[in-house]
Amino acid sequence: MQPLTLPPRLLMGPGPINCYPQVLSAMSTQLVGQYDPTMTSYMNEVMALYRQVFKTQNQQTFLVDGTSRAGIEAALVSCLEPGDKVLIPIFGRFGHLLAEIAERADAQVHTIEVPWGEVFDPQQIEDAIKRVQPKVLAIVQGDTSTTMLQPLEELGAICRAHDVLFYTDATASIAGNPFETDLWQVDAVSVGLQKCLGGPSGSAPISMSGRFVDVVRKRHHVEAGIRDSHHQDAQGQRIRSNYFDLSMIMDYWGEERLNHHTEAATMLFGSRQCAIELLREGQDAVLKRHQMAGNAMLQGIQAMGLRPYGDLKHKMSNVVGVYIPESVNGEQVRHDLLNLFNIEIGTSFGPLKGKVWRIGTMGYNARQDAVLHTLQSLETALRRAGLVLPAGAGVDAAMAVYAGATETRHD
Ligand SMILES: *Cc1c(COP(=O)(O)O)cnc(C)c1O
Repeated sequence: MQPLTLPPRLLMGPGPINCYPQVLSAMSTQLVGQYDPTMTSYMNEVMALYRQVFKTQNQQTFLVDGTSRAGIEAALVSCLEPGDKVLIPIFGRFGHLLAEIAERADAQVHTIEVPWGEVFDPQQIEDAIKRVQPKVLAIVQGDTSTTMLQPLEELGAICRAHDVLFYTDATASIAGNPFETDLWQVDAVSVGLQKCLGGPSGSAPISMSGRFVDVVRKRHHVEAGIRDSHHQDAQGQRIRSNYFDLSMIMDYWGEERLNHHTEAATMLFGSRQCAIELLREGQDAVLKRHQMAGNAMLQGIQAMGLRPYGDLKHKMSNVVGVYIPESVNGEQVRHDLLNLFNIEIGTSFGPLKGKVWRIGTMGYNARQDAVLHTLQSLETALRRAGLVLPAGAGVDAAMAVYAGATETRHD
């Protein structure tokens, strides 16, 4: 066996993306024991850092070990008891994932849908809340499958008015689009690192409000032979997962440090560095960098004569869907980009399969040079596929955005 030899890809798909180099360095650090004071103080530091990332005062802010869906699953199985009603507005693939996870928790799942490429009006959601009267509203903020960003600003107040818990999966959107846990009255939010946070997949930062924690803490809480008296007042049914039992995970990250899993230390070091990179550059600056890169990519795509997908007013900053021109074999173009240029762009799922490429500008790769290389290489790959294109138009349009010469176009 040879040591790892990976090609130097530029990852311009919908995630994962290339990591910030500082994140990779942080992840090559030697270990200490899980209750070593150094380790527990880093755990506390990570809680404080992610409170800033999520813009919250929530005490219960920490990492769930696993990829983003570990955070989703932990949030949903810990708050939903069998028979509980959950409302899930679906506008893409990840909405279906939330529904599937809630179904497995034996919740009573109610969904509403809009066509792919659109988002919900808050009124549609409020109407459904009145009709269904759910315990929980679970909704994705940014769905990479459609590139759409669901406005969440008004949903918290609606949920409070109807005494509903408000959970959102902000994996694809956090750091590249505004997110305000406390201001928007979000009760639980979970994310992953491999989109705009600039890390690898494998850790799921999560934050929970006091109301959400109260609901989780009411669940019956027993682990045979290890603990059985901790929450005497528990009434609800036991959480149906040991690994994703947020009550136990809170006890592990809390002062008592009750043993649960062994914290994935290397992922914790990586997660910590992702937050540090974000806060060092500044959340507003990172947001602007994503908006700039996303807009430059969009303008470049349009200047090349390609058509972007979906309602552009509600597009995430960090990913664009691009209709594959009729005369072109989409997979051949992706193959050429990968093999001739070392650039990866994304394919699509479900109704968009074979029709749309997805091009991301996220985290470390939300950079001018990454945008320009991608546009120029895409132009060449499309020319090889027989398309006639205006030479250099995509790159010129992107450079004009960086030069401040173009307003955002929404047509
Ligand atoms: C990319 C993405 C995920 C990723 O989930 P993993 O378990 O990390 O693969 C989850 N949710 C949304 C909305 C995403 O866009």
